[in-house]
Amino acid sequence: MAEEAIYNDSISISDQWEEVCGQLRMEFGQTAFDSWLKPLSVASFDNGVMNIGAPTAFMKNWVITHYSDRIHRIWERKNPEIKQINFIVKSAPAAEESASSFIRSGDSSLLKRVPWTPTPQKMYEVPSVNNDNDALMSKLNPAFTFENFVVGKTNEFAYAAARKVAESKNIPFNPLFLYSGVGLGKTHLMHSIAQFIKKADPTRTVVYISAEQFLYKFVNALRYKDTDAFKEQFRTVDVLMIDDVQFLANKTKTQDEFFYTFNSLIESGKQIVLSADKSPNDLDGIENRLKSRLNSGLVADIMPADFELRLGILHKKAEQLGVTLPNNVAEFLAQKISSSIRELEGSLKRIAAHSQLLSGHEITLDMTQDVLKDMLRSIDRKTTIDEIQKKVAEYFNISVKEMQSSRRARNVARPRQIAMYLAKQLTSRSLPEIGRKFDRDHTTVMHAVRKVEELLIEDASMTESIEALRRALEN
Ligand code: ADP
Ligand code: MG
Repeated sequence: MAEEAIYNDSISISDQWEEVCGQLRMEFGQTAFDSWLKPLSVASFDNGVMNIGAPTAFMKNWVITHYSDRIHRIWERKNPEIKQINFIVKSAPAAEESASSFIRSGDSSLLKRVPWTPTPQKMYEVPSVNNDNDALMSKLNPAFTFENFVVGKTNEFAYAAARKVAESKNIPFNPLFLYSGVGLGKTHLMHSIAQFIKKADPTRTVVYISAEQFLYKFVNALRYKDTDAFKEQFRTVDVLMIDDVQFLANKTKTQDEFFYTFNSLIESGKQIVLSADKSPNDLDGIENRLKSRLNSGLVADIMPADFELRLGILHKKAEQLGVTLPNNVAEFLAQKISSSIRELEGSLKRIAAHSQLLSGHEITLDMTQDVLKDMLRSIDRKTTIDEIQKKVAEYFNISVKEMQSSRRARNVARPRQIAMYLAKQLTSRSLPEIGRKFDRDHTTVMHAVRKVEELLIEDASMTESIEALRRALEN
């Protein structure tokens, strides 16, 4: 990118697109990004109407159903002039390097302010080892190893199961089915298994592929009437891993194919590892016979990371990035960003990039709040005191009226204190402002905050409630 573009206040549409791409890649992961989003390009922008070209009609439709909402939302936020976004079929421009590393995906103010030097960008490129002769294989991220996976209460079972599969010569359970919400480490564990096995025994064929790519390849095989070769490829592997199988929802033909592949691999004693965003029983749009197959091995979930684990992960990632992360900044981030490790990591990378680009700038709390202000504002904006009162009341099964009333019974007073505490933590409202919402003065709020802080140390169930509420409020 030309340097003047960075300093120019009106960042060009193609630069904006790169930023949008960077964000999409962070949200959806490298594999999905490479398969569906990277091939898109801006075809035209005129009078607020943007046309985005996809290389084939199939891809265009896929993007419309799966990604267009997100693309709209991200772009509208970047550029309010955009009134309409259309997706059209247009052959891709000559293979251009995608320049969407995360540095470009930050807010545009970062792009405008910092001088552009190519070196720091390199620092963060994820070197991807593509698996040489294996056409089926998706890219593995070399950083996704067991050693780099921080284990805590919420993921220890999934971690132990994954290790067991990786280390066992025979098959401990089949399939291993991992599930969790987004950004909690499923892909990380799957890559770890694949890399571990490949290293321990290079003769074993391991195939790791996202369900999206499985689907895409299958559709292509159908189109080119090449399904036999397709089937054969999958049926000759030793370990088959398919990530994000929820993508197969309602794709009956692909599910059938998957079902047969699955059965034949299991019958011939090959290991299968799968992941999804829900447990097999809760997956919508998946045929029952497949669901029961998915349930037939070991099902392990990863719960959202608790505060301790989030803190541990931040320190580990900071170490890997080679940055010094002060404790108060780590605690601040772990506190604020609790729903996804991916987001947590994204925020760390942004502040790391910022401090390294402006060399000599150490990471401080002020700087963190400044660099992440858009992100923090959007977390804050979502969380209003009203919303907190509503969610907390719901959680404890009382009414908002009761919460605001003068009743002092424990079953009402405790939720009230929790709501006050969360209001202090999650919004930028002052103590008197919070007090007014509860018909109390600021000293009551202060007392409530202290009380909850005390209970958080003594009482594990308090920690659990606060964590659950925090997540409910973030989503
Ligand atoms: P998922 O596949 O569940 O959506 P990922 O495996 O892609 O999530 O994880 C998102 C990011 O969070 C990755 O960068 C991953 O390395 C990181 N991550 C998640 N859990 C952990 C963990 N326990 N230790 C270290 N990093 C983690
Ligand atoms: Mg994943």
